[in-house]
Amino acid sequence: MAEHQYDAIVVGARCAGSPTAMLLARKGHKVLVVDRARFPSDTVSTHLLHPPGVAALRRWGLLDRLTATGCPPIDTYAFDFGPFTISGAPGAEDAPVAYGPRRTVLDKLLVDAASEGGAEVREGFTVEEVVTDDGRVTGIRGHGRQGRTVTERAQVVVGADGRHSLVARAVRPQQYNEKPQLLCGYYTYWSGLPMDGRFETYVRPDRGFAAWPTHDDLTLVIGGWPFAEFDATKRDVEGNYLKMLEMAPSFAERVHAATREARFVGTAVPNYFRKPYGPGWALVGDAGYNKDFITAQGMHDAFRDAELCATALDESFSGARPFDVAMGGYQATRDAQVLPMYELTCEFATLAPPPPELQQLLGAVHGNQEAMDGFARVMAGVTSPAEFFSKDNVGRIMSRAGAAAHA
Ligand SMILES: Cc1cc2nc3c(=O)[nH]c(=O)nc-3n(C[C@H](O)[C@H](O)[C@H](O)COP(=O)(O)OP(=O)(O)OC[C@H]3O[C@@H](n4cnc5c(N)ncnc54)[C@H](O)[C@@H]3O)c2cc1C
Repeated sequence: MAEHQYDAIVVGARCAGSPTAMLLARKGHKVLVVDRARFPSDTVSTHLLHPPGVAALRRWGLLDRLTATGCPPIDTYAFDFGPFTISGAPGAEDAPVAYGPRRTVLDKLLVDAASEGGAEVREGFTVEEVVTDDGRVTGIRGHGRQGRTVTERAQVVVGADGRHSLVARAVRPQQYNEKPQLLCGYYTYWSGLPMDGRFETYVRPDRGFAAWPTHDDLTLVIGGWPFAEFDATKRDVEGNYLKMLEMAPSFAERVHAATREARFVGTAVPNYFRKPYGPGWALVGDAGYNKDFITAQGMHDAFRDAELCATALDESFSGARPFDVAMGGYQATRDAQVLPMYELTCEFATLAPPPPELQQLLGAVHGNQEAMDGFARVMAGVTSPAEFFSKDNVGRIMSRAGAAAHA
């Protein structure tokens, strides 16, 4: 048996990696977390943190640090479908609002919390290779900025290294529920576009766009179109982006009066689940499960993975449960929690008009404040789509709309 210097080595130190390292270290385990990036630094991602993500920060004792950065709270989600707007409160009891923190701020806060929790943090460290012995992962090989290659060993290597995960490439996990890229999205930041605590989203034929406030009095506006148009549109991103906003004339007018403060950033992502564990390895965040960003669930999903995976690894390290049993529980819980939202996200990401029954339901939700709050909570990841779209709940919403129309 190889001697382990660490209980866990975590590759990647953003939304999935730093909380995993922090939670394991807080439980007394010896943890190394590495990232080739240095912090603070940005990454290609917008950053609406729905209430479940805010609740996780509160549980970890980090929410006050975020609010102290002056990040504006978001208490209303408004979904403009053209003929009508559904506007509701997204919050849960333990987290009534959402935030849109810049990743430069949020990720740095998470890295610092991992370090304060007792994890050893190595920034500017690139993992080149996953080390294996007899088919079991036993460590990593990589280099810091000075270039000297070192090998570090651990009982478990956790890949928190995002969509292009080197750890996943090395261990080749089973991949399932896969769907290709469905849309491409572009975003930038505007000054002079006040949002007054609102997240606004606009649903139009073959187009969808959204805006919300972030640090420094800036507003992020992201929009997207079907992936099939990616090649044809990438030569004129700005023209296509502005033309898209014209589909909501009053919003376009507000943008015309604002000033663009950054370049456009854009991408498209695939949709997949991966088995998140095997001999000597685990996956969290986008490395283990990814879906289109249209519903903005990735950061709180990464937080949830961090909690589930750190709990399972702690049980395995302490001997409370065998590794495979504990990690099998992590996978089963993750999949059960995210599958309904995954399906809904992929459906929305096609940007196809909602099927007639959904259009009817949305029309019935409009104007019924309780139902509008319920819809906002579904899109915020607070309530499962399975619950909101259940026969009973849909029946209640439809009969209330019917009674109102009759009256
Ligand atoms: C355009 C876009 C918009 C999005 N908008 C939202 C949104 O509004 N809200 C939301 O919740 N989610 C959003 N997401 C999803 C969100 O960005 C991700 O789900 C989230 O960042 C996942 O975190 P992670 O820690 O798993 O991976 P990442 O944030 O990708 O972090 C991975 C880290 O691993 C490091 N790494 C990788 N390979 C190595 C290596 N070999 N050696 C060392 N380090 C390595 C990288 O440097 C990186 O820092 C969006 C995504 C995209 C693409």
